[in-house]
Amino acid sequence: MNTPAISMADLRLTFHGAARQVTGSCYLLETRGGRLLLECGMFQGPPATTERNRLDFPFDPRSLAAVVVSHAHIDHSGLLPKLVRAGYTGPIYLTPPTHDLLELLLKDAAHLEMKDTQWENKRRQRAGKRLLEPLYTLEDVERVLAMRRPLPYAELAQPLPGVQLRFHDAGHIIGAAIVELGLDTRDGRRTLVFSGDLGNRYSPLLRDPERLAHADVLLLESTYGDRDHRSLPDTLAEFRQALQAAARSGGNVLIPSFAVGRTQDILYWLGRFHREGDLPQSRVFVDSPMAIEASEIYVRHAKLFNRDDPDFNRLIGHGWQAWLPCLSYSRSTEDSMALNQVQGAIIIAGSGMCEGGRIRHHLKYNLWKRDTHVIISGFQPRGTLGRRLVDGARRLSILGGDIAVRATIHTLGGFSAHAGQSELVEWALGLQPARPRVYLVHGEVEAMTALRERLLAQRMQTEIAEPGATIAL
Ligand code: ZN
Repeated sequence: MNTPAISMADLRLTFHGAARQVTGSCYLLETRGGRLLLECGMFQGPPATTERNRLDFPFDPRSLAAVVVSHAHIDHSGLLPKLVRAGYTGPIYLTPPTHDLLELLLKDAAHLEMKDTQWENKRRQRAGKRLLEPLYTLEDVERVLAMRRPLPYAELAQPLPGVQLRFHDAGHIIGAAIVELGLDTRDGRRTLVFSGDLGNRYSPLLRDPERLAHADVLLLESTYGDRDHRSLPDTLAEFRQALQAAARSGGNVLIPSFAVGRTQDILYWLGRFHREGDLPQSRVFVDSPMAIEASEIYVRHAKLFNRDDPDFNRLIGHGWQAWLPCLSYSRSTEDSMALNQVQGAIIIAGSGMCEGGRIRHHLKYNLWKRDTHVIISGFQPRGTLGRRLVDGARRLSILGGDIAVRATIHTLGGFSAHAGQSELVEWALGLQPARPRVYLVHGEVEAMTALRERLLAQRMQTEIAEPGATIAL
């Protein structure tokens, strides 16, 4: 394809989501060669935020020539079926692991959307209100899946005339990418880099976010722009202590966990403890069909893992049980219910914030027992059941039951799939010789403000992306 003779002024980018917030990632790139949508994420959180998922897209989906998605998390990919329903028919570029995870996550999202809409419509029917259509259905998801174009890290694609696309490992979840877009103009090549979600350098499975040498414009995530995480050695020491305390009491250990990323990190550490003769429990259950499937997808792409632990890399090709022999998967509802009878075991189940999924059944069956230990390994937003546990609630209403909380609750601060403030700054400074213009995205305002100050102090020109704002590249 010929490079169109476009000038820099013809290149524009509009922030349609994840601007001054952490969900709904969506950026529209316009060139003379066509329009490209970078991310198509769902807005998540309280109703005032999720209402935005129901609005029409602020652009015509039929006018897009290509879509690029950095990783499979729903806040980056969850509105793809809606985009297709609204008329988009072109390719969707993503990495091979994202190709696999997307099917798992979008089918789950469609299923939840159908259930939520049914529930809401019952309420509306009683109130004599207009009924809602689901945002999308499984058929829309199937159409998205047929439009996936896998592109491995480091390889080049040309989604539009005069636009080169390359993915780099972001180390956040398996397949997560930093997106590099080379834009040809008559005045030379412009490079737009989107960090995607950047991983934590202490991830036991994934590589560190790849360092890029050059960008003219950088869109930088800022989820933890205002703080660093607790150190990994401290977090692991706490994790071991919690498991030991549970073993002394003889009760179960419940670990609410996200299906993608956190579950696999936990399985890694439990296997490590086991190999060091330091895992007091003799049975570990993953009680979540989605986490089981995600764990299998991780194994399928094991060649992308880091090489820090030769033992692990040798064994994981044979599956998670080769690494952690006392691991069992609970796939069916019957398998899950059978866990009500176990004692002294570790049970990992979703959801990570205890708002849904099978963990609620285990909490109902175990929280009132003094010998139970609950290990909270991720951030719990206000208003969630997980947060009330962390805040020391003495009684909780779970699945229609009034449950006394007598269990011991442990909170681990250091497991995170995101880079902390210092890592974000260090990574951005890797681009320093070229001095990119930085736009902060994917963060709350306080986090963005703190990160902006740190970057300005390093003489990097930094702005907070405004919702709906358009910039020239
Ligand atoms: Zn993410």
